[in-house]
Amino acid sequence: MRKKSKTLTIAGHTIARGQTQDLMLDVSQQYTGSPIQLPIRVIRSTKAGPTVLITAAVHGDEFSGVGIIHELMHADDLNPLIGTIIVVPVVNVFGFETQERYMPDRRDLNRCFPGSESGSLSARFAHIFFSELVMHADFCIDLHSAAVPRTNYPNVRGDFRDADVRRLCRAFGCELMLDSKGPDGSLRREATKAGCPTMILEAGEPCKLEPSIHEVGLRGVKNVLRILDMLPGEVVKPPYQSLIKQGIWVRASIGGILRFHVSPGQIVEEGQPIATNADVFGQEQSVLVSPVEGIILGMTTLPAIKPGEPVCHVAIPTKSMKQIRKILKDSNRSGLYHQVRKDMASSISKRDITQSDNDASWAPSVNVPED
Ligand SMILES: [Zn+2]
Repeated sequence: MRKKSKTLTIAGHTIARGQTQDLMLDVSQQYTGSPIQLPIRVIRSTKAGPTVLITAAVHGDEFSGVGIIHELMHADDLNPLIGTIIVVPVVNVFGFETQERYMPDRRDLNRCFPGSESGSLSARFAHIFFSELVMHADFCIDLHSAAVPRTNYPNVRGDFRDADVRRLCRAFGCELMLDSKGPDGSLRREATKAGCPTMILEAGEPCKLEPSIHEVGLRGVKNVLRILDMLPGEVVKPPYQSLIKQGIWVRASIGGILRFHVSPGQIVEEGQPIATNADVFGQEQSVLVSPVEGIILGMTTLPAIKPGEPVCHVAIPTKSMKQIRKILKDSNRSGLYHQVRKDMASSISKRDITQSDNDASWAPSVNVPED
């Protein structure tokens, strides 16, 4: 843990123990010279303890983390027993204004950390963020959703070689976890390297607020704060947990319009229909099937498809599918797992599959799409 002093100084403001303060950090300037500022909330206990940084919208169009932070800010029990919570609801304030994933210089902010003082616009912003916030934090939870036009079944990612990252990921409580360092320049990779163990959540769609996704995120953030002794209570566990052994992308081989037969989080058999591909007049052309038994980790939300474009991403967990099926069969039907699955299944077509020609274009990949 980083060396602790009684006061914490961010954006030139000193926050004493026991105080909560909203701050604006100057991160850049408009063409007019007006400051561009980053809103930050700091919540400090009267007692010493870890500093946890919680960030969202590093990609400017990803609202799910913003929604999770809003739920967290309204939680009755958000009074840390020890330590400090630093919350940044919108990191990429540039992209957020224009509803874009990227920065105005067309860079991905999540490839620019730790940044540099004299570099590009994105590098300078990353540097200010890193030196003013990450370097004060002992742990970081970075909240993401899928990129346009996809959705992700909630899953956590982090470098499991780091014992603290592993502990955060497991405590968060998603069923599926991916052990990976993350891309060069990503917040999680660079912050972990700089001594601030960082995990991410990948959940839901961009440009959308999804209440059950927020509930997963809220439960997860609180679980992490609980294992750090910052909040009272027990960790709430998911029905099962497993690492992802491999991910396989199912891609279309002909252009058309898709009707989906599966939804995120669903267990699929090898050969199970994933989507029916119809031509522009609605005539069925082919049926895409799952090449393996696994769990739907991500899907396109755009029904229009061209050859080679991804339709869905099937995760093969390390835990046996037989065991997972049994656990889920015996699990509480009114629990959050089933609610999330139900809410994410709204695009499933009720029409029967009539075409029998399979169109199984797929490619194995160990690389789950990057954060
Ligand atoms: Zn993202």
